Amino acid sequence: MAHDRIWDEARRELAGLPGGRGLNIAHEAVDRHAAGPRRDHVALRCHRRDGRVEALTYAELAAATDRFTHVLAGLGVGPGDRVATLLGPGVEHQVAVLGTLKAGAVACPLFASFGPEPVRERTARAAARVLVTTPGLHRRKVAPVRPRLPRLEHVLLVDGGGPAGTTDAGDGAVALTRLLAEAPADWTIPPTDPGAEALVHFTSGTTGTPKGAVHVHEAVVAHRATAAWALGLGPEDVFWCTADPGWVTGTSYGVVAPLAHGATNVVLEGRADPARWCGTLASAGVTVWYTSPTALRLLARAGDDLLRGHDLGRLRLVASVGEPLDADLAAWARRALGAPVVDTWWQTETGGIMVATPLDGTAPAGSLGRPLPGVEAAVLALGDDGRAVVRDGRVRPVEGPGIEGELALRAGWPSMFRTYLGDEARYGACFAGGWYLTGDLVRRDADGWLWFVGRADDVINTAGHLVGPVEVEGVLRRHPAVAEAAAFGVPDPVAGEAVAAAVVPAPGAEPGDALRAELLAHARRHLGPGVAPRTVDFVTELPRTESGKIVRRALRAAGVPSTPPTTGGAAMTPDRRDRPAAGGEAR
Ligand code: AMP
Repeated sequence: MAHDRIWDEARRELAGLPGGRGLNIAHEAVDRHAAGPRRDHVALRCHRRDGRVEALTYAELAAATDRFTHVLAGLGVGPGDRVATLLGPGVEHQVAVLGTLKAGAVACPLFASFGPEPVRERTARAAARVLVTTPGLHRRKVAPVRPRLPRLEHVLLVDGGGPAGTTDAGDGAVALTRLLAEAPADWTIPPTDPGAEALVHFTSGTTGTPKGAVHVHEAVVAHRATAAWALGLGPEDVFWCTADPGWVTGTSYGVVAPLAHGATNVVLEGRADPARWCGTLASAGVTVWYTSPTALRLLARAGDDLLRGHDLGRLRLVASVGEPLDADLAAWARRALGAPVVDTWWQTETGGIMVATPLDGTAPAGSLGRPLPGVEAAVLALGDDGRAVVRDGRVRPVEGPGIEGELALRAGWPSMFRTYLGDEARYGACFAGGWYLTGDLVRRDADGWLWFVGRADDVINTAGHLVGPVEVEGVLRRHPAVAEAAAFGVPDPVAGEAVAAAVVPAPGAEPGDALRAELLAHARRHLGPGVAPRTVDFVTELPRTESGKIVRRALRAAGVPSTPPTTGGAAMTPDRRDRPAAGGEAR
């Protein structure tokens, strides 16, 4: 079937706003079910950090989100305004995102493990008028940079704090609890154009500032359809996505897709570790688990004994995303969890799964699978710079099976990003000849299966989270003892890659353990634990091209850092306070 027809059919599965008033993600995810026979079905099952389990039906979720939207409306927030969230997994995050969409406003989730600088950078770039966070995150990450966020008008605190209008922080942040209790639960979603901006997800490139990928309400067509095609998701599933809410997976599949199916969406609040994962899978009766290779590696390290104590009898599918899933790990997961394992590939820019191994298990172990229905993929011939050759606006596919090239997708699927915030030129540069160039290198074998080779750029993928080297280098260079800095990825047994840095000391600075410790602490304080380097090595000069660009690959290939990552398992050891892949940060 032609690709357009496939998406048209997927579109027909959606309800649309009553009275032909358009398409709004929150209506498809919540109000549609609350107004029908699924109103008493459990929409959210939240495992609270204190061990309580809280269930919200679709009717209750509709009321909670209506209240949130009324609070926003009371602040004068409406269509097109951006609302940032800095929250770990929890009902509050789900309500904030869906309530924002109900207002016709734009949800902009941020990663709670970011330090103050990445939070400021992204909040400013989004020109967010409102930021929703916790008192603890506010104190540590927002208050220090608030004076540099003149366009941020309101900070709403989801728990703790004082009565409405005041908080212990006493600096203009407002406690939400009473505002929500006083708000009515009767919101009507305004007419929403399917092409209206709905979500902004930040991602990193090799160069420049973080990129804010803009997605529209129509993306829900792909969220829902791809979850059915790649994950076999349906209304009777109990679905759990472990991605942090600050990344695209945490929204597309952590919020929207399961709710758009009328399924039960499981949320694990607070610190995650293999024991809590197993407990949640068993006690919630999860049927489909969407997780990452890093999480599976942590589970494998914890040992089979842990799993033996839990009944995972309802689990029928484990799906992986974000990093390469090697055949051995997939085989372990299949055996230990007792369910088939599929791999899925996609990016912030694609908004939804584009390539996956089929549910029937026919893909060769270790492959990425094939494009989903409605998705056309090509493997494009590479130039000397390691990216697809573009001549006169045209690209050329590789000449045969097994040849490495850049993965490209025919532009036009519903969840495709519509721009990078404030950076049309960078957006335009992602397309050539009607193709979206993904920046990933793949091979296609003679049977049509795609195989992941690596990134075509210097972006670091740590535990499935992309880290832009420039952001790390900028913070390191701000330290007076640093003349030059380069950040790059080094292999890590748990996180896939760990962030490492090479530093040229400033004149007079004394390279050594004391300075190394100081730089690591400086980076962690400003960047947050999910982004800061795990190692710093001192070098006399950085390898550069003739035009002066840092050759980060050379550092990696040369074996810098000379010392192994200090944490052994990088960001992922279970006893760390902030654990990027595992989910939310402590409040
Ligand atoms: P993000 O935009 O943060 O979601 O990261 C997307 C990037 O993660 C992709 O461009 C790939 O480099 C990587 N990625 C995502 N899924 C997979 C996968 N299944 N296998 C290998 N790499 C993946």
